[in-house]
Amino acid sequence: MTRLVGGHVSAAGGIRHAVERGDAIGASVIQIFSNSPRSWKAAPISQEGFAGFGDAMDATGSGVRRVVSHVSYLVNIASPDRELYERSVRVLRETLAFCGSIGVSAAVLHVGSHRGAGFGTRLGAISDAINSALAESRSVKLLLENSAGAGDSVGSSFAELATIIGKVDEAHRMGLCLDTQHLFAAGCDYRDEPAAAAARIADELPTGIVQAIHLNDSKVQPGSHLDRHENLGAGSIGIEALAALICEEPLAKADVILETPGDGNGPRREDVDLARRMVGSA
Ligand SMILES: [Zn+2]
Repeated sequence: MTRLVGGHVSAAGGIRHAVERGDAIGASVIQIFSNSPRSWKAAPISQEGFAGFGDAMDATGSGVRRVVSHVSYLVNIASPDRELYERSVRVLRETLAFCGSIGVSAAVLHVGSHRGAGFGTRLGAISDAINSALAESRSVKLLLENSAGAGDSVGSSFAELATIIGKVDEAHRMGLCLDTQHLFAAGCDYRDEPAAAAARIADELPTGIVQAIHLNDSKVQPGSHLDRHENLGAGSIGIEALAALICEEPLAKADVILETPGDGNGPRREDVDLARRMVGSA
């Protein structure tokens, strides 16, 4: 099967608008926020009279084949603060239930920050949150995203991500969304040896775990721990290393989603075209 390639698009206005924005940049996969990324209260995106994305894609003759949702940035299921943790679990559950109801195949989650409490101390709470969220839907997968490793953020190492996935009841519904910029910023400089970085994924995580890639170049250097995406080829990683990494075996089947800035409005058609050439499916 050809890999799907696309990008993050705004879902402002509703489902149909998100699909049309995907088509405008030539995307076969889109990522959206199914509720506001920076508000606890925001209503889910409008369905505009469609049962879900399947309907909207049929009605528009869209080339979009898969929709994933990025869970709100406010969610922190590693938080030792009881109120923040409980709110996070509630929003995560609501997000998975809503995604299931509108035909979103997977939700991408930043685990969050343990705020000094320690990863091991919060591990049980993290897996409890995931177990309770997965129970809200039969179809939606939960993809953990590797973090850039700022502060006490969880998930900048494959070992931590593997530990979390190992504690989840329905581990077969878990996946990894590998962000190429976060991996680099977290201290893995794969410019000279992309195969070695890919081999670590294969060694430390279950087979087939990488189910999406956030393909981003980096505004910052390795080890900076900063989450700063750059357009492909304009950053410190470069096209060659990125292309080599995402074509290595443990990543070679995963769909590719750009979260690059473009001209300020997110990934452009030329960026999606370039990404398609990088995975050899142009
Ligand atoms: Zn990302």
